[in-house]
Amino acid sequence: MQTPQIAAAWEEVIAATMAGKPVTRVLCTHMHPDHIGMAGWLTRRFDCPFWMTRLEYVTCRMLVADTGREAPRDALRFYRACGWTSSELEYYKARFGEFGKMVYALPDSYHRVSHGDRISIGGQVWHAVIGRGHSPEHLCLYCPQLRLMISGDQVLPKITSNISVFPTEPDADPLTDWLESLASIRAAIPDEVLVLPAHNEPFYGLHGRIDQLIEGHERSLGRLLDALREPKSARDVFSVLFRRPISDAMLLQMATGESVAHLNCLIRRGRVTRKMDHSGINWYQAH
Ligand SMILES: [Zn+2]
Repeated sequence: MQTPQIAAAWEEVIAATMAGKPVTRVLCTHMHPDHIGMAGWLTRRFDCPFWMTRLEYVTCRMLVADTGREAPRDALRFYRACGWTSSELEYYKARFGEFGKMVYALPDSYHRVSHGDRISIGGQVWHAVIGRGHSPEHLCLYCPQLRLMISGDQVLPKITSNISVFPTEPDADPLTDWLESLASIRAAIPDEVLVLPAHNEPFYGLHGRIDQLIEGHERSLGRLLDALREPKSARDVFSVLFRRPISDAMLLQMATGESVAHLNCLIRRGRVTRKMDHSGINWYQAH
């Protein structure tokens, strides 16, 4: 993310590793601030092109443009429907637009990377493999010769990536996107690769980890379905989905998005219905 300390850390890395040579291109896996936050800084520092998938680039431009705006009514309606209290909604209003503050001015143009592209880097050919669900068109890179995969946040060894519904698209079903894209990555990339994730340590065992991630979500969906024999709001199901208490505002937003993602997935599968009451809260029930 953009902070003066991180700019200083980059300068140190550049001095220590680049031997005076320039960076010739910046590739970015996805639009979250902890991945794209310094991309504009790097491309301007070296006057080099920026490579990304189209949905990641365009979505990021959209989110950055929210900075300075008031929290929209649609967003407040969405979180109220999830069961947020008025003080939580007030806090959301006060924090709205934080995204843009974590991102250095984006590159004003980009080179589009698409699924299946072959990208030559340092004399090796890398395959662009797209993942969905954690972010809209997440770029992973796979090099068959080196048996390496750069997985970004699509496959992480220890933590599970956040899969969330956001107020801009309340009926979205990112969990189905996530489960389908993990299955297609498993089919496209062999198990023998060394995976270089964006968080935690490099690891072997891609297929086993993907199976664990898919099974984990399917188990959550099963527990959720059981719990929905009685009608519940998105907020009511936190204890079914998460082991740790949802103690602060950042966690509340992530937990809410993730709960709605699981609920929307069950709606898509025809297992659950959603009804809004007169106070604007959505109630979900298995049928
Ligand atoms: Zn991410």
